[in-house]
Amino acid sequence: MEFLRPATWDEALAAKAEYPTALPISGGTDVMVEMNFDVHRPSAILDLNRITELTEWEITGDVVRLGASVPYTRIINELSGPLPGLALAAHTVGSPQIRNRGGVGGNLGGASPAGDAHPALLAAGRDVFVEVASHARGTRLIAIDDFYVGVKRNSMEQDELIRRVHIPVADGPQQFSKIGTRNAMVIAVCAFGFALHPKNRTVGTGIGSAAPTPRRAVEAEEYLQGVLAERGLWESGDLLGAEVTQRFGELVKAAASPIDDVRGTADYRRHSLAVMARRTLTWTWNDYSKQIRSAA
Ligand SMILES: Cc1cc2nc3c(=O)[nH]c(=O)nc-3n(C[C@H](O)[C@H](O)[C@H](O)COP(=O)(O)OP(=O)(O)OC[C@H]3O[C@@H](n4cnc5c(N)ncnc54)[C@H](O)[C@@H]3O)c2cc1C
Repeated sequence: MEFLRPATWDEALAAKAEYPTALPISGGTDVMVEMNFDVHRPSAILDLNRITELTEWEITGDVVRLGASVPYTRIINELSGPLPGLALAAHTVGSPQIRNRGGVGGNLGGASPAGDAHPALLAAGRDVFVEVASHARGTRLIAIDDFYVGVKRNSMEQDELIRRVHIPVADGPQQFSKIGTRNAMVIAVCAFGFALHPKNRTVGTGIGSAAPTPRRAVEAEEYLQGVLAERGLWESGDLLGAEVTQRFGELVKAAASPIDDVRGTADYRRHSLAVMARRTLTWTWNDYSKQIRSAA
């Protein structure tokens, strides 16, 4: 097995062009498990750990540019202000050791429907982009809605690597909720991310582990946006009625297409999603109402 250790991003892209089947490794928290279980016997491993820019983040204007290998621990410690939904999701990943190594680039590379970053990225809005690059064709941005294409499949080409993720700085409250068989070290039975975007009067949703790919609940988003606009609730911050949270929960539930598996039944997942949707909407809206009232 070849072991490739590029020192720079350009060297990494050149190595990926020369060895297209080389398996990138960042934190290794998925790759090493899969190799131990013989899921992969790659002819080459492409170690990205010497490329320092992959572990950096910056805020330019209203956008966080998050390096693919920034570990979850740093997202929690350094980015809970600008990326509250992603930081909450990061809190639920594995254990401290896993959070110290694993990052969003690895979650996107694996594209598991159960990955915890995905619902938070979807909920963060339609202006979330995965920046990928290849030696031959340069850089391109993939909208998060176009990124997940099948079970553990993403829309990257074989010679591409993930450089970073562009995520708008939160302008409203965000939440993340996850059901597991215990509180830590658990793959989601299902998960839900939710965000209010007061600036452009939209809301964002993300469903995890309840469909072949992470997905948003489009009808639920449209329903809620309609209610908030028609009733002037963005301006007043008045409380939502129970019928609104109920309907929103039902629409989120309807957007899922889960299966029965060892972690839970499809029915349980649908039920849980409706509960998580109602709760996360209530929590975020209560926070938003308080902000509106204290600003008045
Ligand atoms: C004990 C344990 C508990 C876990 N718990 C959770 C959990 O609760 N929630 C959760 O979501 N995940 C969990 N995971 C899975 C894993 O930690 C996450 O998916 C993590 O985000 C992977 O990041 P990484 O940097 O370690 O990726 P790696 O293992 O290095 O890579 C993962 C995949 O992404 C590809 N890849 C990595 N970087 C790039 C790049 N820059 N460009 C292109 N492809 C790339 C790799 O080739 C591979 O296919 C757990 C894993 C373990 C072992």
